[in-house]
Amino acid sequence: MKARITVLPGDGIGVEVTTAAVDVLQKVASRYGHEFEFNEALIGGIAIDKTGTALPDETLRQAEQSDAILLGAVGGYKWDNPSAPVRPEQGLLKIRKHFGLFANLRPVKTYPALAQYSPLRLDLLDGVDMLFVRELTGGIYFGSRQEQGDGDSAYDTELYTVPEVERIAHIAFRAAQGRRKKVSSVDKANVLASMRLWRKTVTKVHEDYADVQLDHVLVDSCAMHLITRPASFDVLVASNMFGDILSDEASVFAGSLGMLPSASLGAERIGLYEPVHGSAPDIAGQGKANPTGAILSAAMLLRYSLSLEAEAKAVEAAVEGVLDGGARTADISARGSSYLSTSEFAQAVKDKI
Ligand code: NAD
Repeated sequence: MKARITVLPGDGIGVEVTTAAVDVLQKVASRYGHEFEFNEALIGGIAIDKTGTALPDETLRQAEQSDAILLGAVGGYKWDNPSAPVRPEQGLLKIRKHFGLFANLRPVKTYPALAQYSPLRLDLLDGVDMLFVRELTGGIYFGSRQEQGDGDSAYDTELYTVPEVERIAHIAFRAAQGRRKKVSSVDKANVLASMRLWRKTVTKVHEDYADVQLDHVLVDSCAMHLITRPASFDVLVASNMFGDILSDEASVFAGSLGMLPSASLGAERIGLYEPVHGSAPDIAGQGKANPTGAILSAAMLLRYSLSLEAEAKAVEAAVEGVLDGGARTADISARGSSYLSTSEFAQAVKDKI
């Protein structure tokens, strides 16, 4: 197949890890007979320096003409001024909004070869393989907010509509059909009216998915069960805020932030794929970045925007294969032992595909 992919390296290690992920996609194209066209564009701090805005119109124009967007990371010391009117992360928020990307998918998996780098006991980590489906464009982060009086009180509102919950629930159930067929819907229905609507709506959508098991879990109990029995979860679907908090809690299972991919999806085929980590200015330009999160994001791109499931699985198996074979980047190697550079690790993954 032919596909156009917009590549937004951004700042810091974003540049190194997207180079690695594009290399891997190029290998997939040649191995499976596809034609991928890559177009680079600006986002983040580098875009501010060159154009004065974190997301130039030219970037959006290019992205609109593509099937998928692969992003590195944005930000860095140079732009780290919270009161600056133009900031790198504005680029991220704007591009998500522009394409209506309402679903954020974050898989978290433990690799046996890396279990020692997780703070959890090894026996708890066996078989951990979960997918967070977080609602990304609604809820309390987008509700009305106000400070009152002399600033001695303030409120934020959590508002969800039935269509907003329906569309995220459909994404979760469909994802579960391709996995272990279990959805845990996270809410706080015992206290919040918005969460009672969430539970009622997810229950209704479930009627279309008889092959998938649905559990409702209260967010506080979910936070505990993620630590005490992480392997029991398959797909978790959650509101914007609960998904934000719980997916960060679960990220430690993978052993390093550098391991984790993500996809942001909307109603159209186009999606935005990016590693969970930031631009890591402390290690940028040194070949120390772990490109796994970016490479696995590329695998998600193959799966969700290009419907190339076999190719996605081949990339995931190659990553697992090189880790099992002992390949390590700096963040996942024992102190004092040798490790592969970002590009050497990517080469090892390419060789396995
Ligand atoms: P960070 O994720 O960049 O780094 C946190 C720590 O993890 C650092 O010690 C870093 O070296 C390490 N790390 C991160 N990714 C790694 C990788 N792939 N391989 C090896 N080690 C890795 O978070 P931070 O330090 O809080 O933020 C740095 C900058 O990134 C800030 O400007 C922040 O605003 C930005 N940021 C961007 C995004 C994004 O683009 N989505 C997300 C988070 C932070």
